Amino acid sequence: MADRMEIAEGDITKLAVDAIVNAANESLLGGGGVDGAIHRAAGPDLLAECRTLGGCPTGEAKATKGYRLPAKHVIHTVGPVWHGGAAGEDDLLASCYRRSLEEAAALGCRTVAFPAVSTGVYRFPPDRAAAIAVRTVKAFLAGNETVDSVIFCCFGQESVEAHQKAMAEVG
Ligand code: ADP
Repeated sequence: MADRMEIAEGDITKLAVDAIVNAANESLLGGGGVDGAIHRAAGPDLLAECRTLGGCPTGEAKATKGYRLPAKHVIHTVGPVWHGGAAGEDDLLASCYRRSLEEAAALGCRTVAFPAVSTGVYRFPPDRAAAIAVRTVKAFLAGNETVDSVIFCCFGQESVEAHQKAMAEVG
């Protein structure tokens, strides 16, 4: 399974994969962080399609086209805001990864890249989030043959190290 999961560092908007995942908010109408970067790179048609989706609950995922991005599709998922860990954050974050991969598989995507959902403005602890991400993706890949490989696209060294540690423990 480890050969179907990979860690990369850098800007997810540059990746020419079948789908990149966006760490969006419930409105799906754009925001800061990776969401802002994806909308800037994709152009205004992405926001126009997002307006037709009617938002997205936390833990869920919805797909759009990629427009000017090198990626064919964007899977918008809404991560949980960290409230200390006793408010169902772990399960909601796992659901983001699972539901995003289900959407990607339904579109026939073979390569999917994730940012570290919830670890920016939503303050989810990076090590804990990376462990959930790697565990959930591994479990999904074990039962799915459409999605071939998943890239954890890390922004910064702290995130890279969190995912390396998680891969060593879980992958
Ligand atoms: P959230 O609200 O889910 O916490 P953020 O966008 O604030 O979302 O942060 C999620 C993660 O995405 C953070 O690790 C942040 O450093 C990272 N990030 C920000 N911009 C990019 C980008 N262009 N490519 C990949 N990751 C990014």
